[in-house]
Amino acid sequence: LTSRLPHFGTTIFTVMSALAAETGAVNLGQGFPDFDCDPELVNAVTRAMQAGHNQYPPMPGVPALRQAMAAKMLALYGLACDPNTEITVTAGATQAILTAILAVVHPGDEVIVLEPCYDSYVPNIELAGGVAVRVPLTPGSFRPDFGAIAAAITPRTRAIIVNSPHNPSGQVWTEADMLQLQELLAPTDVLLISDEVYEHMVFDGQQHQSAARFPGLAARAFIISSFGKTYHVTGWKVGTVVAPAAMTAEFRKVHQFNVFTVNTPMQHALAAYMANPAPYLELSAFYQRKRDLFREGLAGTRFTLLPGQGTYFQCVGIGDLAVPERDLPEGDFCQWLTREIGVAAIPLSAFYGNGFDQKVVRFCFAKKDDTLREALQRLARL
Ligand code: PMP
Ligand code: GLN
Repeated sequence: LTSRLPHFGTTIFTVMSALAAETGAVNLGQGFPDFDCDPELVNAVTRAMQAGHNQYPPMPGVPALRQAMAAKMLALYGLACDPNTEITVTAGATQAILTAILAVVHPGDEVIVLEPCYDSYVPNIELAGGVAVRVPLTPGSFRPDFGAIAAAITPRTRAIIVNSPHNPSGQVWTEADMLQLQELLAPTDVLLISDEVYEHMVFDGQQHQSAARFPGLAARAFIISSFGKTYHVTGWKVGTVVAPAAMTAEFRKVHQFNVFTVNTPMQHALAAYMANPAPYLELSAFYQRKRDLFREGLAGTRFTLLPGQGTYFQCVGIGDLAVPERDLPEGDFCQWLTREIGVAAIPLSAFYGNGFDQKVVRFCFAKKDDTLREALQRLARL
């Protein structure tokens, strides 16, 4: 069998979660909460099932959920979008990203990714026959380098993928960044795939700068959200894509032959739950408190704290630890940390095509306070 993805193995998230389970380590690796969602959300699913919402929904998604999403896009980002022609419900952001790429990338097209980047982007581009053009974010700050991005745009560039708030760094693009991106793309027909799954986790008084706020970006963007992140239900795998009608039409052509539809009762439950904006409006404060608890605990250790103003990830440098394992490649260090110290983490090198090793690992702080305290106690030994 000739592999379609010869350069990729099992994702690091699967590998590290399996190792954490096997060793009984505190799992701060893969990004998911270790606490449950609002029981009201579960009740809403039960009610939807009892009301008989158990067959295929319309192909683009349950209308009430698309309407609720349209209302949110208008209220939060000032974008008026038509739920019938511009919003599609997907099986999580993962499917949304793949389907968007398959819908617009032709063999040989270039797609710009900003490294470090989420691990599905490059294999998705390659499955479409496209070529991933990797542009580094500035090492250390993980800020966009617009000179480098501009230099990477060629007549073959079909799209650029932007992810803010950013996994793994937690960095957040500012309004000025988005305006610069808008200006850069204005004279081109490069599309934007805007991965905004952490849109409701932005700290220190910053605001999420959705592509939806910028007309010149919204007109060329697939804007991707995930309910899994926002409502603590990563296992539900429900997300949305907002895009102009012509782009949505192409997206749906692929979507219908990919998953066709997404599970019905969850969509009804999410639509009902979205009527109350409090859960997503309060999420930033909820996670900022956890970030601060975790950072304060790490401040007393030899780990170096990197800046982070969004997502539920904290990156740390390991170069100053008092153990010889600090000199291991990041991936080996994470294996050692999991097995010997009992805390799982993700090596940043997993987010680079060339395995760039800068002695930085990522912890997920979407955990109960007690889980975080237990992990901190173990990490303090280093
Ligand atoms: N993009 C990024 C940046 C992510 O961190 C994740 C979640 N790991 C996804 C996409 C996928 O989201 P979902 O679980 O909704 O498929
Ligand atoms: N997005 C999550 C992370 O970055 C995990 C998703 C996955 O396991 N594929 O850790």
